[in-house]
Amino acid sequence: MSDILGEKNICKKCGKCCRLIYSLKSYEELYEESKNGDSVAVNFLKLFVPYVSKKDALDIDTAAVSAICEYNKRMYGADTHFYYCRHIDENNLCKVYERRPKFCRQYPKNEFIILPQDCSYEGYSFMAREKVKAKVRKAKEELLDIKIMRMKAEDKGTIERLNKMETRCLQYIEKYKPFGSEDW
Ligand code: SF4
Ligand code: SF4
Repeated sequence: MSDILGEKNICKKCGKCCRLIYSLKSYEELYEESKNGDSVAVNFLKLFVPYVSKKDALDIDTAAVSAICEYNKRMYGADTHFYYCRHIDENNLCKVYERRPKFCRQYPKNEFIILPQDCSYEGYSFMAREKVKAKVRKAKEELLDIKIMRMKAEDKGTIERLNKMETRCLQYIEKYKPFGSEDW
């Protein structure tokens, strides 16, 4: 349950995000890792419980679960495993609301996360994605400017500075490549 917009909190508390936690790792894999002291696995299993079958997750939101599975298969060639949080109650309220983890407070911080259907953050996410796209387009324009400036540059210092700027632009575009930044 998010409060990413602070006092303008628009979360309608459907609880789907708390019931559609996913990982590329199965419970058995995470359990083994936690036994070996992996803190990420330990913390994950402290909060999240695996569904008996994927159908349980599909019953919550078929479209979102299918989209998440399809995305992970395409991107990572991997199956998706679904979990629910042990702190969500039958009224979709968080039992540890005041001390819930940071990622719950910041959900959906990742602009390209697949949201559950009818999540009230869809508009927020859409705007956040548009901002990223605008920044990628600006980075592409800067790359052209950098090329021209480098052709005119005469000293080594300027060329090095332009090279660094170019690297930053390329890295930003690369970061969003899985989401289509080459075509924006
Ligand atoms: S800790 Fe609370 S807000 Fe976070 S996933 Fe669990 S129920 Fe949801
Ligand atoms: S899915 Fe969206 S609307 Fe539903 S509880 Fe989570 S953040 Fe709120």
